[in-house]
Amino acid sequence: MSKAKLEQLRSELDKVNLEILELINKRGELVKQTAQAKENHGADKNYDPVRERDMLELIKKNNTGPFKNATIIHLFKEIFKAGLELQEKDHTNDLLVSRKHKIDNTIIDVNGAKFGDGAPRYIFGPCAVESYEQVAQVAEQIKNKGLKIIRGGAFKPRTSPYDFQGLGFDGLKILKEIADEFGLAVVSEIVSPSDIEKAAEYLDVIQIGARNMQNFELLKAAGEVNKPIVLKRGMSATVSDFINAAEYIHSRGNGEIILCERGIRTYETSTRNTLDITAVPILKQETHLPVIVDVTHSTGRRDLLIPAAKAALAIGADGIMAEVHPDPAVALSDAQQQMDFDQFDQFYNEVVKK
Ligand code: PEP
Ligand code: MN
Repeated sequence: MSKAKLEQLRSELDKVNLEILELINKRGELVKQTAQAKENHGADKNYDPVRERDMLELIKKNNTGPFKNATIIHLFKEIFKAGLELQEKDHTNDLLVSRKHKIDNTIIDVNGAKFGDGAPRYIFGPCAVESYEQVAQVAEQIKNKGLKIIRGGAFKPRTSPYDFQGLGFDGLKILKEIADEFGLAVVSEIVSPSDIEKAAEYLDVIQIGARNMQNFELLKAAGEVNKPIVLKRGMSATVSDFINAAEYIHSRGNGEIILCERGIRTYETSTRNTLDITAVPILKQETHLPVIVDVTHSTGRRDLLIPAAKAALAIGADGIMAEVHPDPAVALSDAQQQMDFDQFDQFYNEVVKK
């Protein structure tokens, strides 16, 4: 063979190598797109043995040599493996709150009530802190039932600026004093990032309300404190928006997040919001965080609190939030939907005690 011929063959080989390289990378791109399409359909994008066998059969059928089938199969299996590794790499982009990132349930201990451990947990208390006496009466009811947590709003994000806005830090002080007296933990909403650090002195759990679910500065501030967070779903937020809001908190270092489904806005007017009950198992599947349901703000109806709570627990919620007031008729907020003490007893007997 002449030297010139050899050079020509070598240059052709180089060309073929580059063509193979281009094709392998083209295949890699297609594998990534296929994985994305499968994920959009909710399917697992990992190894599919049936599909791999079909691809190998097609390759064998078309193999005209000079390589034997066994050699070709070996080479293609390596290419397929590289494609799978490419998908694994994309997994590193998974969210910290995702089940893919952490398979086990996150369990959050609030004064001995372990949210996410499989047993239902409860957060009761008035919509808003109105006075020492009002909160103390509710705290006594909660304690007598052997429950561990009280809620109450001190910073109230109200639709109208002329409505009762809450007692602010004075309200938090009332909550803290009473909670210490009755041995309860306190959950209360904070609306401003600059209040979070100071509020953490009074609170055991910081609530971020529906209206602030995408207040990203507040979420970041919540991610920097060492307190569990109850994050409520925004009234127009998709499940994906909700999960990403939780990720904001987790990404700043605080992974103690309890997700709270509290109903979304729809065209339906027979309830205050529409309780998106299937969001519960979706959130449980997609994240490792505890998920609770606020039956008060979702339904806005006292007559629906018990059935909604039963439905939430039946579908897998880790807990329930509901509002209780000594005299709902004179409550400064949410007068139509808070339970009085008789209704609280009934709720306790039918849902909590079972
Ligand atoms: C609340 O729980 O006090 C409250 C205002 O609820 P939401 O943010 O869900 O409307
Ligand atoms: Mn309320």
